[in-house]
Amino acid sequence: MIKPSLTGKVSEVFSSIQGEGLYTGARQLFVRFYGCNLDCVFCDTQLSSYEKYTPEELYGVISRFEKNYHSISFTGGEPLLQKDFLREVLKLIKRDGIKTYLETNGILHKELQEVIDYIDIIAMDFKLPTSGKHEEYWQEHKKFLETAVRKEVFVKCIVCLSTHDEDIEKVMSLIKGSGKDIPLIIQPNTFELGRRLLDKAKAYQDTLFHTVSDVRIIPQVHKYLAVH
Ligand code: SF4
Repeated sequence: MIKPSLTGKVSEVFSSIQGEGLYTGARQLFVRFYGCNLDCVFCDTQLSSYEKYTPEELYGVISRFEKNYHSISFTGGEPLLQKDFLREVLKLIKRDGIKTYLETNGILHKELQEVIDYIDIIAMDFKLPTSGKHEEYWQEHKKFLETAVRKEVFVKCIVCLSTHDEDIEKVMSLIKGSGKDIPLIIQPNTFELGRRLLDKAKAYQDTLFHTVSDVRIIPQVHKYLAVH
């Protein structure tokens, strides 16, 4: 039973091309949730406005789009900050047999447990402290991954000129500890793209390859296509 007062804050709903990670190039319907628990230095989605919807209202908006997409991407901000609302929307969507894709910063592990039954694909970040110059989230990422492995999951991490090798070693040990061969996407920082950064990313790819069989370097492709 959905609480009659349950509403969520959503900044936009739009159809576009996935620009990051394993599904780069796939057509998706994007539902961008408002609000984030982090404040990353290279964030390109600073959201300033939103509309309030009930789960049924948002489902109505989603249903008006042509079903020509691979999956619906719940993105943000951080969708798991609104896990009750998200869960109810996911339930409505799964009735139609549509694939659901969660784009998350990989920190809110308790919240993930409450929605994972309705998620098909999880694109999670590892926030490297020396890339984003923020505190460490290794414990959170570890717990998040323990739940996420129940579904299809891949990890993205942004590599910058400032990234330290120790962070890459930590990435390797978390993936190894998950007991699953999880694909890893190294995303070179868009603002520092160039030969030096690419060489660094390739060196990390070589190192990681001994532990992760599918490790790819993929920049943010939507920036080149000039789409959302
Ligand atoms: S987690 Fe994502 S949306 Fe949130 S601040 Fe960082 S880059 Fe921006």
